[in-house]
Amino acid sequence: MTRRLSLFGATGSVGQSTLDLVRRDGDSWQVAVLTANSDVAELAKLAKEFRPAVAVIADEARYADLAEALAGTGIEAAAGADALVAAARAPTDLVMAAIVGCAGLAPTMAALEAGTPVALANKEALVSAGELMTAAARASGAPILPVDSEHNAIFQCLAGGRIEQVRRIILTASGGPFRTMSAADMARVTPAEAVAHPNWSMGAKISVDSATMMNKGLELIEAYHLFPVGLDRIEILVHPQSVIHSLVEYVDCSTLAQLGSPDMRIPIASALAWPDRMATPCAPLDLAGIARLDFEAPDEVRFPATALCRAAIAEGGARPAQLNAANEVAVAAFLAGRISFPAIVDTVRRVLDAAAPATPASLHDIFSVDASSRAAASHFVDQYEHA
Ligand code: NAD
Ligand code: MG
Repeated sequence: MTRRLSLFGATGSVGQSTLDLVRRDGDSWQVAVLTANSDVAELAKLAKEFRPAVAVIADEARYADLAEALAGTGIEAAAGADALVAAARAPTDLVMAAIVGCAGLAPTMAALEAGTPVALANKEALVSAGELMTAAARASGAPILPVDSEHNAIFQCLAGGRIEQVRRIILTASGGPFRTMSAADMARVTPAEAVAHPNWSMGAKISVDSATMMNKGLELIEAYHLFPVGLDRIEILVHPQSVIHSLVEYVDCSTLAQLGSPDMRIPIASALAWPDRMATPCAPLDLAGIARLDFEAPDEVRFPATALCRAAIAEGGARPAQLNAANEVAVAAFLAGRISFPAIVDTVRRVLDAAAPATPASLHDIFSVDASSRAAASHFVDQYEHA
């Protein structure tokens, strides 16, 4: 049986891994939608290969280029934020939400409201609007299938018991490229060093988030929304090899873990095939070759981001959306060479030091918190840059 797949963020790291699996299992899938931010050439190339009904470029200024590239193919070209949302509302069997940042929120919400199952990689959407997204999923009955490797692992481990009987969820973290580096040395790291993750090949933004450990903090908030066990039952454990992708401990002290090679195609395949399984070309685990697995407690002095995230979700309301927006601005500024590595998390902290905006009650409210927090973060970035 063929299933229709709509892929948001087709040109990214998760998008490409998804298409790699679809390519190998072509008879099972009919690609309905492909989207990208601004890379028309790559989007048109993918569209010609996978033949979706529609290809959407988020950057409206690139519409004419996309329309020209797809002329005569029968594939509809569309552009802009509204076109992304319209494409997310179109009937399909699964939406893969693989846009990076809060930019993915509107289409992901549209898919959930339409009752479409969502394979969710786009953690920033859930961090910014967790209550609204989980409420939309409950109302329409659309499942959210976690793609983030830790959350996919927890989702799989939760099949081994009832959520009311969970004592602890343990989110594993690689610790990133600077796990053993002193704070003084971290003040001098370059963007190239920060994106060079020891275990995973990923987009630039999440790679920097892994280096600051903000990624694990965002994942804590993500886990809080996906798995309602209460914040104090979710812990972080550093595990440098990234072989155990997370663990669930039940009341009887049985602990279930999901293991696998650090290859995103494994959790992506799990979400694509759910509740079934599909074959992947990934390397099976060679535990004798790996020989040992290490664990250590996170160091919240050198890596203060996880504590900021825990405080933001504990306070709730607008805080997680503020935190996410500030982090997006600060990471972009670091990647552009404008601020130092430690200034990323400092920027987030300074944005959160201001009084909290009112609790957002709608997507519109989330977008206004997002916009004002971006402005506040940009102000601090300018100060660092000119200090
Ligand atoms: P990436 O930067 O490689 O790709 C991002 C995709 O989003 C691209 O297709 C890009 O065109 C699109 N995009 C970017 N900005 C956009 C905008 N403003 N409007 C519309 N589209 C836009 O990112 P990635 O590493 O593939 O990560 C995607 C998401 O998945 C992120 O939320 C990330 O945290 C999450 N994630 C990624 C990995 C990984 O291994 N890469 C693992 C776990 C979770
Ligand atoms: Mg992850």
